[in-house]
Amino acid sequence: MPGFELFGEKEKAQVNDVLDSGVLMRYGFDGMRNGHWKAKELEKALENRMQVNHAHLLSSGTAALTVALACAKVGAGDEVIIPTFTFVASFEAVLSVGAIPVLVDVDDTLTLDPKAVEKAITTKTKVVMPVHMCGSMADLAALKAICDQHDLLMVEDSCQAIGGSYEGKPLGSYGDLGCFSFDYVKTITCGEGGALITNNEEFYTTAHQFSDHGHDHIGNDRGAENHPILGYNYRISELHAAVGLAQIDRLDSFIDIQKKNYTILRSALDVLPGVAFRRVPENGVENYSFLNFYMPTEELARNVISALSENGVDACFYWYDNNWHYYKKWSHLKNLNSLSPLSDQIKNGLTDFSKSNFSQSDHWVGRNISCLIKLGWTEEEVKQRAENMINAIKSVIN
Ligand SMILES: *Cc1c(COP(=O)(O)O)cnc(C)c1O
Repeated sequence: MPGFELFGEKEKAQVNDVLDSGVLMRYGFDGMRNGHWKAKELEKALENRMQVNHAHLLSSGTAALTVALACAKVGAGDEVIIPTFTFVASFEAVLSVGAIPVLVDVDDTLTLDPKAVEKAITTKTKVVMPVHMCGSMADLAALKAICDQHDLLMVEDSCQAIGGSYEGKPLGSYGDLGCFSFDYVKTITCGEGGALITNNEEFYTTAHQFSDHGHDHIGNDRGAENHPILGYNYRISELHAAVGLAQIDRLDSFIDIQKKNYTILRSALDVLPGVAFRRVPENGVENYSFLNFYMPTEELARNVISALSENGVDACFYWYDNNWHYYKKWSHLKNLNSLSPLSDQIKNGLTDFSKSNFSQSDHWVGRNISCLIKLGWTEEEVKQRAENMINAIKSVIN
């Protein structure tokens, strides 16, 4: 998945444009910048690729989620529904605007279960945040119907799924707001960076103002701009945007490579008894950044993950035991006092998730194995890998 694997001359050329002009900031300094507006160009490129009216770059994917929640006017006392299987950034972003994250079970898609979402809705719920983990999505049509019925907004966390689609729409563009991460290990990278996309003009205005101290961005004298709203600094730099500009041009070729490698590995595993693949909802196309499969039991999954490693198959994850991606291992959830920077109001509002019953999530995540698809593998390496994976799994099943 990581764009850094194919990092090279194009990225350097873009960065050098910025270094030569010396203007590292995305706003202002019009006279000095030799016509280079890397952040603006990358936003245009994202708008075109994602078929949306507006894209706005931010300093990270976590910043994008935080700004998206601000656009949705989520704040103190509100609840945001997120999945038990996610990256801890979802949880952080909700807390950072003073709202309460409400964890909800995942299903065989490894993403939000619409039935569980419906049950978790209260009068305080404002947003449903599906997280397209490991390159694939939830039943978004079902989630959208629930959002419409209850007057909720959908914020898509597409940080791990750029390039995938649902009902022909790029992931991130299906909900009201979509977020991407361009950190160093994502499908395309800026080093650090993120983006928010939307078709809603008002959300876009809030996004660019809120992420730059409330500046209205009208005219070309930054010092004379008005500040219609409160804001913070979640800006991306021109240097980071320059890297992303080289990478976005290569997104579709990255996805093609991932698909090719993924398909070879999947067909190899397809014939093995006991191996079942993650469900990709009808009308969904994943971005092939991971190959996800289930073993019949948690014990077999644990045995397979050891056998894979013994057979030299790297980059396979057992998320169930991972400290960042599954709620069970989040130490700050085990000890709510570790959330000390937060007010008692927020801490008291949080459910003690260590006592919640997420047996449905455990059922799927506990049996899941997730193998990263790399861009740099040769065909020979992928075939060898397929053989090693088959051997590893057979050694456990027989
Ligand atoms: C990486 C990631 C984020 C956060 O992005 P950063 O740019 O690292 O802040 C959020 N959600 C998911 C699902 C991610 O994988």
